[in-house]
Parts: sequence; C-alpha cells; structure tokens
Amino acid sequence: ITSKELAEITLKRIKKYDSKLKAFLYVNEEWVLKQAEMADQRRKEGKAGALTGIPLSIKDNIHIEGHPTTCASKILANYIAPYDADVIERLKTEGAVFIGKTNLDEFAMGSSTENSGFFPTRNPWDLERVPGGSSGGSAVSVSARLGLGSLGSDTGGSIRQPAAFCGVVGMKPTYGLVSRFGLVAFASSLDQIGPFALNVEDLALLLKVIAGPTPKDSTSAEITPPDFTKAIQENLKTSYRIGLPREYFAEGLDPEIQKTLEEVIHILKKRHTLKEISLPHTKYALATYYIIAPAEASSNLARYDGVKYGFRAEAKTLLEMYKKSRAQGFGKEVKRRIMLGTYALSAGYYDAYYLKASKVRTLIKEDFDKAFQEVDLIFAPTTPTPPFKLGEKTADPLQMYLSDIFTIPVNLAGIPALNLPVGLTSQNLPIGAQIMGPNFKDDTVLSLAYQLE
Ligand code: GLN
Repeated sequence: ITSKELAEITLKRIKKYDSKLKAFLYVNEEWVLKQAEMADQRRKEGKAGALTGIPLSIKDNIHIEGHPTTCASKILANYIAPYDADVIERLKTEGAVFIGKTNLDEFAMGSSTENSGFFPTRNPWDLERVPGGSSGGSAVSVSARLGLGSLGSDTGGSIRQPAAFCGVVGMKPTYGLVSRFGLVAFASSLDQIGPFALNVEDLALLLKVIAGPTPKDSTSAEITPPDFTKAIQENLKTSYRIGLPREYFAEGLDPEIQKTLEEVIHILKKRHTLKEISLPHTKYALATYYIIAPAEASSNLARYDGVKYGFRAEAKTLLEMYKKSRAQGFGKEVKRRIMLGTYALSAGYYDAYYLKASKVRTLIKEDFDKAFQEVDLIFAPTTPTPPFKLGEKTADPLQMYLSDIFTIPVNLAGIPALNLPVGLTSQNLPIGAQIMGPNFKDDTVLSLAYQLE
C-alpha cells in the first residue's frame, strides 16, 4: 500500500464516521494528500524514516506551522501556528503524515471533551458516552481507526483517562523526556506531551521518535532516551517487583473494574513479585492539583488579551478591549480556573494555598520515591469508573474533577505512566489499567505493558 492510498482510506473513514464522533476540529484534505505524496516520494528515493506515510492526528494545542491551533477555544479561533512544536519537527523528520487536529476540552481543562468551545466528541464504544478528556479527540481518532496514532497532552490525566475510556494505549512520559516546546501551556510544571496508539509496540515507536532533549525548552531533560522499541523486546521475560497501592483499590472503585484488575493481577503473579504498598498522601492529590494547576493556568492564560493572539472584541478603550475579549473568548471552565488560580496566588493567600500545595506536592512525590525503593513498577486502575454519559457530570465540576483521582498524583510527581486496555464491562465499555514507574524508567513501564498485551 502506498502512503497516498493509506491517506485516502483514512480520509474516507473520517468522512464516514467523524460526522457522528466529532473527533476532529480540522482536516485539510489537500494538505494530507500532499504530505502523503511527499512520503511516497521519499520512499522511492530510499529515504524513508521510521514513520513514513503513517497517518497521525494531533491534539489541537500542539503547533503545526501554517495550520490552526485553537485549543478548542473561541479566543484562539483563526489563530495560525507560526512554528512547529519540537515533537512535530521530530515526526516530520521521520515522515509522518498529519491528518488533522483533534478536539479537546478548552485549553485542556476537563475530563470529558464536553468543555470544547466548539462541540463535544463522542465515545465510539457508545455514542451516548463521553470519550474522556481532555485529549478526547485524539483517543477517539485512534480508537475508531481514523489514523494509526495521535499525540495528546497530559496535565492531570488527559492522555491516560481518555485512553482508558476509549480502549487504546496512551502514555504520559516522564516530565522532561518530551519537549513541551510548541505545546500551548496549561500548567507548565505538570504538562507533558505523549502518544496514543493501538498497541504497545506502536506506542514505544512514537515515544522513541518524540523523546529527547532540545535547547528550545529549558525543562527538557539533558538525557539520551533509551531505545524504547528495543527495550520492550529485550524485556519480554523480565520479572518485576510490582506494587499494588492500597489507596487505589479502595471504595469508590467500580466493582467491574476491580474484578477485571484482579484477574490481571492473577496473571501478573505468574512471573512477577506482587506486593501491597501504600501511597498515604494520595487523598490530598486532587486538592493539591486544583490549587497548582489553576494557579499556573491563570498566569499562562494572562497572555490572551486580545492584542497578541486570535480573537479581539470591539471596544472603545484598551481596558474595555482586554475585558471584553477575555469575557467573550474564554469558556466557563477556563474562567473558573483563572479565578481559582488568581485567588490562590494573590497576596495574603499565596502562603496559605499555593505554597502549602507545593509542600503537599513534595509529600506526594516522596510517597512514590519511597515506594520505588521497594518495587520497580506500580499497577492500578486508570479511572474509578467506566466512561460516563454526556451531560452526566457537567453540572457539578467537583464530580468531573473526581474522574481524574487516579491519574493526577503521577503528574504531581512527574513520573511516567500509561494506560493499557485490559477488558470490557458487561455493557461493553473499555476498562483500563495503569502502569506507573520511577522517573525516566519509561522503558520499564512500556516493557511490562508489552508483556501483558
Ligand atoms: N481533567 C484534568 C483537568 O481538568 C486534567 C486535564 C489535563 O490533563 N489536561 O485539569
């Protein structure tokens, strides 16, 4: 099959299925076909890369030069990215074909893709249910085979939770392994770009391509990443010490998810040493996250003032223009976060909220450090429940926030974690398991996932 044929098949599937699923915010056929033709040309010249002709979708908060980046926000409607994200540059070098930009919760704030400023995305397993979020469009595009992989961003679970809801693999790499250059910032100390794929082998290959240091990003780690595709093959029979965190198998966990994970644990016991562990500060993770993430967001989003980017409201004075542009451009959840964050950072409250949260964050990180002295990896559920119905949690932000309770601690600690589909509920909805590892042991995380697949 040629790259052009593969691109045409993918575009045809998008036409057929995406009118219902709504995974994409932007598909430019002419551009897709041109990239595919170039990929075929490269192959003919014997210059094929690791991903030549592979159709990938990209979350619409990652820049591709000359194409829109909206972050699913009205405030960035009509904004065209002026440069490539570091990950995009790397994918281009390997010959990937970008098929389009995928839907998300506005500025990646949400857990269901219902906060998109344009339209919600639907779960291919049940159209009445959410795909998760915020990278819902990316998860759906892979789950429905509208492309063979995708990139998303994970600040508090936004890759792993939608991967779990849509039955695909998705990974948040170690903070700093993949450059954030060209990712629109939400909460800079938590944000991390990562891949979605149909299987662990593809996931390892995508991570191998996008990982690595760059002088353009001061938070990118000065390390040479291991060869992930080689590591998973070499470790096919390696036995690990695996921790089962008590706090993740507690009340509130859906019984069908619990049962399926117990079955997987039974299989794990054949090769690995399992051990119950405790991450005692887990109960503070959600509260900590909802101080730190909004605080950083309120600062990062100050740049959208109607002057530099995208949308500008009609006004008579400069101040009125700022106010109106922000009032009309941002959606409800984004405004909620800006207000929470501004409050937490304001004089007189900084010590009580932001500083306190930063200290608790350290305790959460130390829980993991301690655990990883005894175990190589941690195995847990990705989400407390299967995908919920559209509209079910939109009225109550706290209920929505709770769906990330198992994914948020990982971001606070910076460690790598992935979602692996491990079964289906009686209603035929995907169940995901989460594998977490120590910092920069992304290869070990992938290796156990590959064994289990
Ligand atoms: N759902 C979480 C939030 O709304 C996490 C989002 C994310 O990882 N981008 O902040």
